[in-house]
Amino acid sequence: MDFDALFATQLNQLKEEGNYRIFAELERECGQHPKAQCHGEDGKRQITVWCSNDYLGMGQHPKVVERMQEVIGQCGAGAGGTRNISGTNHHHRLLEDELADLHGKEDALLFTSGYVSNWAALSTLGARLRDCVILSDELNHASMIEGMRHSRAKVVIWKHNDPADLEAKLAALPANCPKIVAFESVYSMDGDIAPIAEICDVAEKYGAMTYLDEVHAVGMYGPRGAGIAERDGVMDRVTLIEGTLGKAFGVVGGYITGSKTLCDFIRSFASGFIFTTALPPAVAAAAQTSIRHLKESSAERDLQKVRVAQLRQMLDRAGIPHIDNPSHIIPVMIKDPVKCRMLSDYLMDEFGIYVQPINYPTVPKGTERLRFTPSPNHSVDDLRHLVSALEVLWKQCAISQAVA
Ligand SMILES: *Cc1c(COP(=O)(O)O)cnc(C)c1O
Repeated sequence: MDFDALFATQLNQLKEEGNYRIFAELERECGQHPKAQCHGEDGKRQITVWCSNDYLGMGQHPKVVERMQEVIGQCGAGAGGTRNISGTNHHHRLLEDELADLHGKEDALLFTSGYVSNWAALSTLGARLRDCVILSDELNHASMIEGMRHSRAKVVIWKHNDPADLEAKLAALPANCPKIVAFESVYSMDGDIAPIAEICDVAEKYGAMTYLDEVHAVGMYGPRGAGIAERDGVMDRVTLIEGTLGKAFGVVGGYITGSKTLCDFIRSFASGFIFTTALPPAVAAAAQTSIRHLKESSAERDLQKVRVAQLRQMLDRAGIPHIDNPSHIIPVMIKDPVKCRMLSDYLMDEFGIYVQPINYPTVPKGTERLRFTPSPNHSVDDLRHLVSALEVLWKQCAISQAVA
């Protein structure tokens, strides 16, 4: 059998649809965020990154970088095992305590990524709780969907951010089966935010536990950077809060927080927690430093909010439509995969501006977009350069008709 031919057929189909993924090959320059070197056919050149999830530039913060170097010096590169077999390092425990404190929970549990934490926690809960039903917001992230699917539990989808629809779905279920309401706080593609308190009202009324993905909110919202639930004063009403160390905290790794018994349950039964090498101790220590810093400092969050507001205002003045939302994410809708890729290529080639086209299946077909994430390290000149480049392209590409 010619397997490569089988693979190529499907790849060609992606290419024809304009959905084939091409990665920008970057070399981040420590201390220069959001600037980076981009490797291309003609060597490398400096560009400005406009689509990073290192929202606050913490991945290059001097305290975080120094701490990682220090602990590599002390502990070496790797953890040396799974958490169960010699891989639990003191720095993992310190980080779990830091995370439990951040979210006001009894305990926390680390995973190698946010993806793995969602996959492992939801698949374990759904599989181990007899007759469990998971009620999932229709726009939940792929990692949650895969976890629910793997659990083989019954999944009921409710309308995005709609507590009334959630209530209707809950009311239709048997009173005595365990129910889990799974949702996110900041949805990363549209940048809208869940009404957490109202969702908790409904969940509590029906005795359901709440599972909240705060991946795009941790480090970013609330007085100590614990997320939207902290900002809204409802952290104690959410049963399980899941987050990442790889976005605003700037390192890598994922976690859940909740009661001691809940964390012990996932620790004891989740294959995605047990059968994999633990995070390097230096990664854990660097993440802890980043969290601690953002618990005390709001300077990064405050300046980022200023930059987000400035970019929105400048786009409005230039007549470039973007989704209005209450978060830090600025989506400019293109609604066509080929045009979206073309615009992204022009921005990179002509203006040294890097924004990845967001196409299917990350977003539904027909809602392709450019998604801008201003950081506190983007200067006002960076903003001006971006908006004037978009203005030029807007006129050239007749894209304005497409999005009108
Ligand atoms: C990125 C993302 C994850 C996965 O987090 P990683 O740490 O990057 O694996 C989980 N949930 C949502 C909503 C995400 O956007």
